[in-house]
Amino acid sequence: MSKAKTGRKSNSRQDKPKSGHSGKAHPHRDGLIMVPLGGCGEIGMNLTMYGVEGKWLMVDCGMTFADENLPGVDIVVPDPTYAEAEAEDIEGLVITHGHEDHLGAVHHLWRRFRCPVYATPFAAELLMGKFKEAGIEDDVDLRIVRDEGPLQIGPFRVTLIGLTHSTLEMMALAIETPHGTLLHTGDWKFDATPMLGPSSDEDALRAWADKGVRALICDSTNVFSPGVSGSEGDVRDELTEIVKGRKDGRVIVTTFASNVARLESVAHAAKESGRHFALVGRSLWKFYEAARKVGYLADMAEPLNDKEAAAMPRDKVLLLCTGCQGEPRGAMARIANDDHPQISLAKGDLVVFSSKIIPGNDRTLYQLHNRLALNEIDVVTEKHRGVHVSGHPSRDELRRMYDIVKPEMVIPVHGEARHLIEQADFSVRECGVAESYVVLNGDMLQLGPGTPKKVGEVPVGRLAVDASGLVLTAAAMLQDRRRLSHNGAAMIVLVVDEDSELIEDPRISLIGIAEGAEEKELLAGADRAIERELGKINGRRPADDDAIAQAAVRALRKVVRQANGRRPITECEVVRLEEGERVAADKWKEAV
Ligand SMILES: [Zn+2]
Ligand SMILES: [Zn+2]
Repeated sequence: MSKAKTGRKSNSRQDKPKSGHSGKAHPHRDGLIMVPLGGCGEIGMNLTMYGVEGKWLMVDCGMTFADENLPGVDIVVPDPTYAEAEAEDIEGLVITHGHEDHLGAVHHLWRRFRCPVYATPFAAELLMGKFKEAGIEDDVDLRIVRDEGPLQIGPFRVTLIGLTHSTLEMMALAIETPHGTLLHTGDWKFDATPMLGPSSDEDALRAWADKGVRALICDSTNVFSPGVSGSEGDVRDELTEIVKGRKDGRVIVTTFASNVARLESVAHAAKESGRHFALVGRSLWKFYEAARKVGYLADMAEPLNDKEAAAMPRDKVLLLCTGCQGEPRGAMARIANDDHPQISLAKGDLVVFSSKIIPGNDRTLYQLHNRLALNEIDVVTEKHRGVHVSGHPSRDELRRMYDIVKPEMVIPVHGEARHLIEQADFSVRECGVAESYVVLNGDMLQLGPGTPKKVGEVPVGRLAVDASGLVLTAAAMLQDRRRLSHNGAAMIVLVVDEDSELIEDPRISLIGIAEGAEEKELLAGADRAIERELGKINGRRPADDDAIAQAAVRALRKVVRQANGRRPITECEVVRLEEGERVAADKWKEAV
């Protein structure tokens, strides 16, 4: 076994490549290069670049969700600085499938590299909606591809291989290059009964194995899960049995909106149990309509909308809702909070969470479960019964993939560092793969010819999608927001005369710092401290506005810090009134 850990992270922009190619080193001109700009060291925002003969193929361009460290930001995308610098040599972007972590950044970043985009009909349908939102639908060269044969994209010959996953049309890529063939799996599982779309094309995988696969670039999401991920077919049976067993009351199922097979399974369960099927929530309708438009779900009766469902007898309807992660704006949370305009729940109704709890959402979801339980609504989750399966391979499936493809090496992607390292170990130690390499975002790995080696690093990082555009996540504005959310803010207005004496008491407002008696006490203390501080700096000559403001900010922050440990963002405005204005102001004050 030879295993190289090439990883480390860089999230700086200071080493941003100069625009154009003059004077730039060209390590990528030699051999076959892989550079992940996202998805290696995190689950989400996948973006991988493959280089050969100075040309690039980009695979996927996804987003991820911001956590509480980025207040006011929902979506984060990979910093495309490197792709931007190489833009003229990027021959194409191939999208493996329609999940947001694979295509959700294209419309935010495409202007930076402007290459043709290849996607299957379903993914293209989803992309088109996003392009329209971004106003680039007429600019992007979007090429819809099926598994009709290899695509020649610059020096890369790319063949799509259909694999099963938790959404439609997941395509692995066989990428033929002069230095060997790469098999980039995308997200996948082995599912003999996927319910919608074909099973994983194992014959195609075997055919590539016969020709020889240099490297398997493989999904690591569930590398810690033993066994297999389970089948959508079994979920359909379980859901059907559960719903058939409920004679009274409403039944609500919630799941990931992009899982179209699951949507069809819930519709099936409705039909089998004599209930009408309804969809509640915008994103479910979006995926339903995209699937219909490209030819899926043709035999399904049009679902009821929430209004129509609300008018049905409670025991005659099965509702599929968005918000399986307890998202506050999702239908499920609104219904549970009795805050949905159409749909409500009553004692004895049933809610089925046909989904897993994504780490980080546990607290929100348990609160939601508790609320439902307190209202005597029955709750079924994947913990109780087989109402959910993952779309990613567990260990037995990974092993089977290595056995089929017989790669010279495995390169784990789609995982945090611990997932990547685990798959690297698992593939070599337990499954007999000759080599594995851990690559982190920004690492430039030469995969051939010869022994793979790290040949460079490129700048990587994260951009926040903010109302004002794309912002570096280290930006001062976002740091301010973080501080605001942790420490609150304070505003001081001081009105002084020409001698820098206070004309009236400081006006202080505290935001998110204290309340009630504590706030009153703080305000009084700050008042005294500011006056004291100004007395100190007003020496023989009156202090200027800046000195006054700084002294006041210092005094207030000290009072707050001593009182409750917070360090609020504090601003002070000094209003200086001349003699005449002061007289006028006094008169005006007397008048009101
Ligand atoms: Zn996926
Ligand atoms: Zn994914």
